[in-house]
Amino acid sequence: MKFKFLPNTIVNDKLVSFVDANISIANHGFQYGTAAWGGLRVRVLNDGDKKSFQLFRLDEHVKRIYEASKMLFLNEVDSEKFTEEYFKKKILEFVNVNKEVETDFYIRPIIYSDGIGPMPDLDDEKSFCVYGVELGDYLDSKGISLSVSSFRRQEDVMIPTRGKISGAYYTAVAAKAEAKARGFDDALMLTQNGKVSEGSAMNIFMVRDGKLVTPLGTDGILEGITRKSVLEIAKYLGIEVIERQIDLSELMYKSEEVFLTGTAARLTPCVKIEHINLQSDFKMMNQIKQELEKIYSGENENFKNWITEVGMI
Ligand code: PMP
Repeated sequence: MKFKFLPNTIVNDKLVSFVDANISIANHGFQYGTAAWGGLRVRVLNDGDKKSFQLFRLDEHVKRIYEASKMLFLNEVDSEKFTEEYFKKKILEFVNVNKEVETDFYIRPIIYSDGIGPMPDLDDEKSFCVYGVELGDYLDSKGISLSVSSFRRQEDVMIPTRGKISGAYYTAVAAKAEAKARGFDDALMLTQNGKVSEGSAMNIFMVRDGKLVTPLGTDGILEGITRKSVLEIAKYLGIEVIERQIDLSELMYKSEEVFLTGTAARLTPCVKIEHINLQSDFKMMNQIKQELEKIYSGENENFKNWITEVGMI
């Protein structure tokens, strides 16, 4: 896949072009995975006279990156600087300096250890940058296949999965590579005790007996913002939602629908797990997806605070 990165980035309060936004090869975030990042989608609306950018659940994304930054043990000086307001301001600034972009894109804010000494520590300097990449739909909307990964999700006491901590993504990339090598689209990750956790970088849902079920926050998942939104929309639609542990056999043999969620992946149906084909019309998933579209288009006023519109003339 060829990626088109947005021309401008923000690095530590400075506007830097993407090609010049580089870090040292001795950088701690790079060496030890001591970084935390976020991922937000931006829709570009252009009706000829007026152009604007729509950000989905900006405050939730800002909160998550702020909470993850605390996992990097920010010292007092850093804590004073890297507030929620700071992250939000920089993300909005990033959109503003890329206002020439015409295609929907994905923003990646990252806070990282910026020390270069040879010892691993978290007492080093922290830096913050924001870059972006153009992004349309990249998963097959007809449905994807999942293999059951031989890699298990790490426990909270190993590397917490609640924040998007860079080092934790080894498990995700290794699981995905294994899945691809076996001819599947993505990996289904299990917890240490064999319960369903999530996809390599997507949350998972199943419909069982007409109810929407998803693993608990304590099942090694990232507390996904799309997951949270799907749960809230489902409740709004009068669907019963249950957060609980899920067994693999339920997902494979007893579910009426299985689908995955993520900012980049959106809502993606799952049509196969290992050798089992899942037969479904994805009625509930599509119902939620349609409501989500209404929220984007402003047709559903109840969720209008989920959208931040950055206007340009
Ligand atoms: N799980 C993992 C491990 C992820 O990295 C992501 C985001 N790519 C998700 C789930 C989905 O989270 P969100 O809906 O907030 O994008």
